[in-house]
Amino acid sequence: MNDKTKFCCSNCFEKGLKDIVESAYDAKSPLGNCPYCGSSNVRLYELGKHDELQNALYNVISLYESGSKAGEPMSMILQKDWNIVSEKVETPSRLLLSLFASLFENGMVSKGFSTRKFRLRRSAEKPFVENGSWSSFAEHIKYKNRFHIPFIHLNSIQELLLGLVEDIPDADSNDLFYRGRITNSKTGFKKEEMGAPPKNLLAAAGRVNPSGIRELYLCHDRETVPYEVRATVPDYVSVGTFRCEKKRRVLNLSKIDQIVPDFTNLHALRLLAVNKPLLHDFAQEVAKPVSSNPNAELDYLPTQYIAEFVKSLNDTQTQQIDGVCFESTMYPSHMNYCFFDPDDWKCSEVETIQVKEIRIRTN
Ligand SMILES: [Zn+2]
Repeated sequence: MNDKTKFCCSNCFEKGLKDIVESAYDAKSPLGNCPYCGSSNVRLYELGKHDELQNALYNVISLYESGSKAGEPMSMILQKDWNIVSEKVETPSRLLLSLFASLFENGMVSKGFSTRKFRLRRSAEKPFVENGSWSSFAEHIKYKNRFHIPFIHLNSIQELLLGLVEDIPDADSNDLFYRGRITNSKTGFKKEEMGAPPKNLLAAAGRVNPSGIRELYLCHDRETVPYEVRATVPDYVSVGTFRCEKKRRVLNLSKIDQIVPDFTNLHALRLLAVNKPLLHDFAQEVAKPVSSNPNAELDYLPTQYIAEFVKSLNDTQTQQIDGVCFESTMYPSHMNYCFFDPDDWKCSEVETIQVKEIRIRTN
């Protein structure tokens, strides 16, 4: 490696490896411009000089084996399945090749490593659906047995998903949430009518809550509300504002595909590796638009099953999880929340708006 390729910086990596590089900086780390991600005047990290980054990378690489023509090059696996290199790096393969060269120089991989094809090694860790098939789980819960599924490993779901639990800011941050209800008059609903349906009315099933179980769906942006209630011209929509009055913790399902592993924990890395295809299918399921199909209630069952399990963790351990959040499919890149305790929220104001126009974009 020459001087131009042997230095990178923490901005070259996504969280996980970024933290590892940052912790390896010391007073002797030179300042300069990063040749890979273009960051200027940053602390530089010399590839191959410190053990931490190499060991982390080696832990991931060791989950795979080469030797057959089937499989993919390691640079593709690391980028596609492990999201290691930051978007700031224009040519990720260039950085990965330099990382492989530093592993080779230190005797951690053999010659020709970068051109070989790799497959996941067999390991003791199992997918959380035993046969690794999300669709067989969905079929089973919809049409065979709903409440007792012996081939689901709940401990693995817990271990995989707890890393996605995050705080949402409290009232001091002025963080506001919104809920909409379609109404046929411009007077609209009152504040008291903007929460979850009362107990004596059957709560309809949603992506997260089973039928009859009251939970509160809120949008994080006001403009998402008309999309989520599927309002059309010339509907009136009452939009209630809800304030988060205390710190809450939610499971962020929009990040299922981006779980940041502990690169120093081989068991955690293996568990994540064998579950990546299932987690991807789960992420797709959560992101599916709500259907008006009469069978939609059945389609929600697999995600409800996982959400109900997450809710049950509140009763069994110290970790508080107040709800889940996921990206709106009706208004992409905006977040929706479902809170498990609807009575924990109060509507502070309500405004009734009228839909004047709908824009449809097609591909
Ligand atoms: Zn960089």
